[in-house]
Amino acid sequence: MPEMIKGSCVHCQGNIEFDSEHSDSVAECPHCGKDTVLRKAAEFRQDQKRNRRLIVWSLITLLALCFVIPAIAFRHEIVQAFQLLAGFLGSAMVAFGVVTVAVIFLIWCGLWLLFPVFVYFGFRDLQRKAEAVELATQSCARTLGQIQEQAKEKALS
Ligand SMILES: [Zn+2]
Repeated sequence: MPEMIKGSCVHCQGNIEFDSEHSDSVAECPHCGKDTVLRKAAEFRQDQKRNRRLIVWSLITLLALCFVIPAIAFRHEIVQAFQLLAGFLGSAMVAFGVVTVAVIFLIWCGLWLLFPVFVYFGFRDLQRKAEAVELATQSCARTLGQIQEQAKEKALS
């Protein structure tokens, strides 16, 4: 016997119930009318979480490459600059400390540059939720209207 599964639309997050045998097939969403994949809500959320993790890891890799590639390309210059700095400061240890602080500061600046990106993703999520609330409100209003009409019909008859 097919089991009923609760899922949600990829576009409007509206709730969709479907037979388990229709799982992973594409159907028109009853809320927004767009085509969506029928999938269990929990699996859908897992997919979303996986996507978010993928974005974060790509960003981290990109940042790491931004540091690693120049470091390899300019390794002789970096060593020379470090020796110059060590000579200027009088000790390699102090120079190393200064460079470490500078690198941490640069990473911190980079994170602040990325901050709007995170805000943007958060905002998009919020927008989607607001749309879902609006759709729910509309369906509530529709149901209320129907109830009112039914009451009117009853009053007339
Ligand atoms: Zn939808």
